[in-house]
Amino acid sequence: LVSREVKAEDSQVRVGDLTLGGAAIHVIAGPCSVESREQIISTAQAVKKAGATMLRGGAFKPRTSPYEFQGLKGDGLALLAEARKETGLLVTTEVKDTATLAAVADHTDILQVGARNMQNFSLLEAVGETRKPVLLKRGISATIKELLMAAEYIVARGNTQVILCERGIRTFENMTRNTLDLNAVPMLKALTHLPVFVDPSHGIGVRKAVPAMMRAAVAAGADGLIVEVHPDPPRAKSDGFQSLDFSEFEKAMGEVRAIAAAM
Ligand code: PEP
Ligand code: MN
Repeated sequence: LVSREVKAEDSQVRVGDLTLGGAAIHVIAGPCSVESREQIISTAQAVKKAGATMLRGGAFKPRTSPYEFQGLKGDGLALLAEARKETGLLVTTEVKDTATLAAVADHTDILQVGARNMQNFSLLEAVGETRKPVLLKRGISATIKELLMAAEYIVARGNTQVILCERGIRTFENMTRNTLDLNAVPMLKALTHLPVFVDPSHGIGVRKAVPAMMRAAVAAGADGLIVEVHPDPPRAKSDGFQSLDFSEFEKAMGEVRAIAAAM
């Protein structure tokens, strides 16, 4: 169902009054985790001013260690809803499991399925039963084919509103957190009609290098980006080492706009 052979023209995903996968590039930005009211509202305002059209922020966090910050959970969802109301930005947050799906779906415009859950088939089936747009992130060691088959699980249940997201894969290289596989962008654009986003933050995992990968992703043909932005990256409760501060994000957005306009 997701193949270009079945449907030749690009699919667009409508979220609120936005069209993803159309002519315009859309940027989702915000902190890795929602940490406080002040943090999420100030970030929402800053990323909106810089040109982002959607806000991200984790509430239920899938952390590598059980002793790390796990997110504000339900309180985080409520804060995201407040930030949405305050700024008009649409919001996305990760749905970590089927148990929290209903609560997450109630508070968000796009359901994010994380890399660690790309092949959680029960979760894919459950989000496939909803009619909420889904941002499906590529698994840490998943092939492009496996990503497409994971999308197929969602679309097969009747939810056609799927956006794919390249977020870096695990390779032998350990100078960076992951290796952002920009090969995936033109490959996916050829293989599927679904919109393709890129997450340069998790893709490279090095704050100073994120703007270069934002530019590269857009030049490669991505339909949009999801970028981690924090008011004070060194103090972030998760992923501060790869989060841009407000001024870094604003500058990078100007560069991205210039590249998009030249294409
Ligand atoms: C995130 O977006 O903060 C996240 C956990 O991403 P991923 O699932 O790609 O690791
Ligand atoms: Mn993160």
